[in-house]
Amino acid sequence: MIKLSHIEKTYDSPSGPVPALKGIDLHIAKGEIYGIIGLSGAGKSTLVRCINLLERPTAGQVIVDGKDMMSLSAAELREARKDIGMIFQHFNLLSSATVYDNIAFPLRLSGTEEGKIREKVEPLLKLVGLENKASQYPSQLSGGQKQRVGIARALASDPKVLLCDEATSALDPQTTRSILELIKDINAKLHLTVVVITHEMQVIKDLCDKVAVIDKGIIAEEGTVLEVFTNPKEPITKEFISVLLSNELPVAFRGGAIQQEYSEDSYLLLRLTFIGESADDPVLAGMIRQFPEVECTMLFGDLDQISGQPFGRMIIGLTGRKERIQAAMEYLAAKDLKEEVIGYVRRHDHAAL
Ligand code: ADP
Ligand code: MG
Repeated sequence: MIKLSHIEKTYDSPSGPVPALKGIDLHIAKGEIYGIIGLSGAGKSTLVRCINLLERPTAGQVIVDGKDMMSLSAAELREARKDIGMIFQHFNLLSSATVYDNIAFPLRLSGTEEGKIREKVEPLLKLVGLENKASQYPSQLSGGQKQRVGIARALASDPKVLLCDEATSALDPQTTRSILELIKDINAKLHLTVVVITHEMQVIKDLCDKVAVIDKGIIAEEGTVLEVFTNPKEPITKEFISVLLSNELPVAFRGGAIQQEYSEDSYLLLRLTFIGESADDPVLAGMIRQFPEVECTMLFGDLDQISGQPFGRMIIGLTGRKERIQAAMEYLAAKDLKEEVIGYVRRHDHAAL
C-alpha cells in the first residue's frame, strides 16, 4: 500500500542543511498496522509527512496505493490526499467549531452537500463513541475525546491509509489504551492501513503488527513486532525494549560475581524466552522429570502478550554435575524456546539460591 524508496530529506536552515532522512526504504502492506519508533529528532515526523507529501522528499520515490505521489499535479495530489487521513499529538482541532463541525470540516472543504455530510458524520460519531458530544466544543472535551474527534475527522474522507503522528503522546496511560483499542478496531472494521509514529515501545507492543526503528534518519532495524521484541539486534532497539522488558538480573545477582566457569558449588543461570504456543508448554516440568539430579531454581518469571501471542520470560538456576547440567541444557535447546547463558554464580554468595 505504501512504498518508500531511497527517501532523503534535507531541510535548509539558517545554520546550514539539516539531513533529516538519509535513504529510507519501507514497504507497508495493505491492512497492516505499521509502527515507526525513534527518539526525538530521529526523523519520524518528517518521514510520515513524506507519505502524504506535506513534506516533499529531497530525493526518492513515494508510492501510495499505486500512485507515484511526487509525480502528481497539485489537483491530483489534493485528490490522492483524501485517501490518507492523519491524526496528531495535539489533535489540531478548530477550537471555535463544534465536534460535529470539526468532523464535517474536510467534507465541507471539498464541497460535499450537507445531507451527505450528515450521513457521513453521524456514523463516525458513533464509531468513535462521541454520539452525545456532537454540539460540544473542543474546550469541553478531555484529551482522549479530542483525539476521538481527530480520528473521526481523519476518517471523514474514507481514507485507505491512516497516519498517526504521536497520537497518544499527550494522553495518560489509560486514555492511551482506549485510543489504541479504537485504532485497532478501526483497522479491523475498515481494513485501513495504519502507520503509527511513536517514541513509546508500549504503543508498538499493544498496537502494531510490524515495526521499524528509525535512528538519525535511517532505518536501524525492522521486522514483525514479535521478531523485534524477542530478538532485537541493534543497541537502540534493545534500549527501547528494555523500558518494557527488564533484562536485568534479579537484584540479588547484580554486581555479584558472575563467572564464566563451572565450579561444583555454582549455579548456572539461564535466561529462557518462550514465544507463542511454547509459552504454555510445560518444558521445565519435563526437564525436571528427565534430570531429577539437576536442581532447578526459578529466579524470575513473567508472561506477557506481544501481537496477541503469549510471550514468557524466565531466569532459572541449575546446579548439579557438570555433564548433567550440559545434558539438561541440550534438552532445553531442543525445545521451542530461546536459551541464553548468563553465567555461573556461587551458591554461598547469594541468599536467593
Ligand atoms: P521526530 O519527529 O523524530 O522528533 P523530526 O522529523 O521532527 O523528528 O525532525 C528530524 C530532524 O529534522 C531534526 O533534527 C529536526 O530538528 C529537523 N527538522 C524538522 N523539521 C525541520 C524544519 N522545518 N526545518 C529544519 N529542520 C527541521
Ligand atoms: Mg515528531
